[in-house]
Amino acid sequence: MVSIRDLHKTFGELEVLKGINAEIKKGEVIVVLGPSGSGKSTMLRCINLLEEPTKGQIFIGDMEITSKKTDINKMRQRVGMVFQQFNLFPHLTALQNVTLGPLKVQKKSKEEANKLGLELLKKVGLQEKANNFPIQLSGGQQQRVAIARALAMKPEVMLFDEVTSALDPELVKEVLDVMKTLAMEGMTMIVVTHEMGFAREVGDRIIFMDGGFIVEENTPDRFFTNPQHDRTKKFLNMIS
Ligand code: ADP
Ligand code: MG
Repeated sequence: MVSIRDLHKTFGELEVLKGINAEIKKGEVIVVLGPSGSGKSTMLRCINLLEEPTKGQIFIGDMEITSKKTDINKMRQRVGMVFQQFNLFPHLTALQNVTLGPLKVQKKSKEEANKLGLELLKKVGLQEKANNFPIQLSGGQQQRVAIARALAMKPEVMLFDEVTSALDPELVKEVLDVMKTLAMEGMTMIVVTHEMGFAREVGDRIIFMDGGFIVEENTPDRFFTNPQHDRTKKFLNMIS
């Protein structure tokens, strides 16, 4: 579903991604771990072209998104992304945030978009908050609206970049639970997180990044119980 081949990204003099290779199958949940500054966000942002790769290729299904011919708007509909900061439109209600893409990008009718939007808000447990504005919602609720908004475009892949890092601890679980449900329904997901419980329980594979490389790639079980590389061991020692 996602194929990353020799991906490089340079900002000025700084080479942040130094040749990333990864293959992600349909329905797989990949958890990306690694120290701050290792290039995790940059990799995710390359996968939906928020950053333009300096070198290398990325495929979503059979579409090479790094090809000059790719229609970025079409491609963005196939790849949903949720960020640490919720980035909801403050002047729009929860429902209006969710239906904006279907209305403006996919040109759906208002009726159709509202039906879909309410279904998605129900899915994330917020149907009764449809008419609330972001400021009237908790951080966990806002983040669940952001997930519903990404799902409204019917993406084939979802990217999550530390989506619980800005939340109060008691609100983390409600967001992780939504992600867990999505994973169980078969969504293909790439998840950057510090939540090791989630990584172990929901991840099919762990990718550990350091210094712009993938240092280690393994099943959660083997990754946590029998890390292969010194840098992985050091990382696991620091967080445990
Ligand atoms: P992580 O998500 O693993 O913490 P990032 O991908 O955010 O790492 O950042 C990796 C490195 O790239 C950092 O040194 C960061 O300062 C740098 N970086 C990220 N985005 C930019 C940018 N737009 N311009 C310049 N440097 C950047
Ligand atoms: Mg990051």
